[in-house]
Amino acid sequence: MRIRPGRKRSLFAGIVMLLVTLVGLMMMSQYGGMFGPFIIIWLAVGLGGSAMAFYNAFSEEGLPLYEVDVEKDEQNGEPDGFCPQCGRPVGVGDRFCRHCGAPLAE
Ligand SMILES: [Zn+2]
Repeated sequence: MRIRPGRKRSLFAGIVMLLVTLVGLMMMSQYGGMFGPFIIIWLAVGLGGSAMAFYNAFSEEGLPLYEVDVEKDEQNGEPDGFCPQCGRPVGVGDRFCRHCGAPLAE
């Protein structure tokens, strides 16, 4: 299963990265070649990040930023406990078993 950030968040991230790029351009015009390699990396990160974020915001497919294995629990793949009724793994803080609905004692 692949998860990507929502459109609004992607759009916001793209705008932030564009601002980062703009700041880089301003620094470049102010300091000339003093921060040469640093500015180039800065601009590359800003442009790359904004391009990726805007691509996510406007395309149907989007780029998956991370993947999750739905078979495993979120924390290190270790379940926090097991349902006393059906024996399946349940998360910590779960009040009811998400498989059979049995109430869980915490
Ligand atoms: Zn259960």
